[in-house]
Amino acid sequence: MSILPNIVEIAQSYNVEIDSRTLGKREILCKCPFCNNGQNKRSRRHYLSLNESKNLFQCWWCKERGGVIRFISLLSGESESDILERIRREKSHSSYQKHPAEKLSTHQLQLLGYGRINWVANRHFDYDEYLAFREKVWSEWQDYINEQVKRAYQMVWLYMLKGEITMGYQLVSKIENDIGFPLMEKVLRYFSSEGHECAEDRWSSEELVCEILQIRHPVESLTYLQKEEL
Ligand SMILES: [Zn+2]
Repeated sequence: MSILPNIVEIAQSYNVEIDSRTLGKREILCKCPFCNNGQNKRSRRHYLSLNESKNLFQCWWCKERGGVIRFISLLSGESESDILERIRREKSHSSYQKHPAEKLSTHQLQLLGYGRINWVANRHFDYDEYLAFREKVWSEWQDYINEQVKRAYQMVWLYMLKGEITMGYQLVSKIENDIGFPLMEKVLRYFSSEGHECAEDRWSSEELVCEILQIRHPVESLTYLQKEEL
């Protein structure tokens, strides 16, 4: 597919009057917007011919002719180089797959201590620097999320010990809303057998909660009681 716009669609978007009987034909005829405003009776006829397959135009009356970029330029007053630049930019936008770091919202970036980041400008300014910066932001976001998961686990665990687990879930969902990221699935992994990879975070979180509640860790207490019984 050509990256250039279709000349007939351009004509329609600029309200060029098309002879509808010629639509779909090899040469589509229009009233020429470049002739002198139809002062001359003859120029009011459909002298402008559009060739859709070649994306070309030609007026049989005023002799104006060219490709679609020149056509847009004459209709809009924009320079041809500006039009090409704009099309190229739009094209590179639409085909560009965003890195997840670039999908972070302004609010999420603010949580990391940034303001709004203009990724497009960054990418065009210095590509290597842009890649490094993107990696930095993404790894900071992942660290941030890991911290939030830990915090969420602490809440769930604390309220579980207090017998108010629902309260724990509510607080986690409040954090989720605030940061715009789901945490619960990762929190539940702490509890599951897959949790060994976060065993250290889990242990330190539970220790912290016990400290806050000024209790012994249940596992510890259990062995203690068992020891007593023995
Ligand atoms: Zn003309």
